[in-house]
Amino acid sequence: MTEKNYGGSAPFRKQSKENKPASKEAALLKVNKKEREKIKTQEPETEKEKILKAGKIAAEIRKYAKEIIKKEVPLLEIAEKLETKITELGGKPAFPLNLSINEIAAHYTPLHDDTARAHGLLKVDIGVHIDGLIADSALTIDLENTEENKKLIKAAEEALENAIKILNPEVSLNIIGKTIQETIESYGFSPIVNLSGHSMEKYDLHAGITIPNIDNNQERKIGTGLFAIEPFSTTGGGKVSDGKPSNIYQLVEEKNIRSPLAREILNYIITEYRTVPFCERWLYKKFGARAIIALKQLEENGNLHQFPQLVESTKNKVAQAEHTILIDKETKVTTRD
Ligand code: MN
Ligand code: MN
Repeated sequence: MTEKNYGGSAPFRKQSKENKPASKEAALLKVNKKEREKIKTQEPETEKEKILKAGKIAAEIRKYAKEIIKKEVPLLEIAEKLETKITELGGKPAFPLNLSINEIAAHYTPLHDDTARAHGLLKVDIGVHIDGLIADSALTIDLENTEENKKLIKAAEEALENAIKILNPEVSLNIIGKTIQETIESYGFSPIVNLSGHSMEKYDLHAGITIPNIDNNQERKIGTGLFAIEPFSTTGGGKVSDGKPSNIYQLVEEKNIRSPLAREILNYIITEYRTVPFCERWLYKKFGARAIIALKQLEENGNLHQFPQLVESTKNKVAQAEHTILIDKETKVTTRD
């Protein structure tokens, strides 16, 4: 998934020294503080090994996605197949598989009864975790076979590769953004300025550091850690707005709720997903139609945050490329297929 910077000038605002979360989602997260500890790459069977294994699974899913995604295949079938494969390979989805078409930049996942079919410029965003250690990776598939789509994909992929080439703990965030922006603009397209990459911690997809897709004034060094870099290229104006509700949720507060049904489902969410995003489809499979009622109650009670779909503001097409990179003693792309 991706991180939207809320507020018009947010991407240009300097991050504080305390490294406050720039996204609404990160700021909302009040639960499981004990789970939000820093990743320990030095311990035995180490968390580093789990990061690499999650990355390998994501790389396999990238390959499998390219095999099975064809025009007119139901999105529901694609999502189910890819998520099942994640489990078969020994991981868990770190968020519901995102399948976002054309001007939808991110955060579309099929509903339990979704009838949409694959077409257009399709972004596949894959999340895998092992014990909370995450791989986040995306690719774009052109199902229309047009020159423009292919160029948009190439611009995003090349921007990602150019950003990866310059990565080391000492590089400033604005230099990464500048590299992405210049690459995308060299193709005659715009980067999406209010979507960005992000740091990751255990069970924490958007852990505070924002990696811009433009040259902002953020001179802070990236440092060591686990990061997702995700350029978006568009033929449009280069901004996304909130679209329809996505039916992708995240636990933000464990506070009590009176409805026994909602409480039962809240307990399941706490145990099963902790603080990683999940969706209506998964809960429908487990609990049936009553899950839908409970989700509404939990959202109204403030237990859950629902992500909006993110739509390019001028309704133009968007391509995305994303990899997870571990910056440690060396820099390693964990999700390369
Ligand atoms: Mn992603
Ligand atoms: Mn991401």
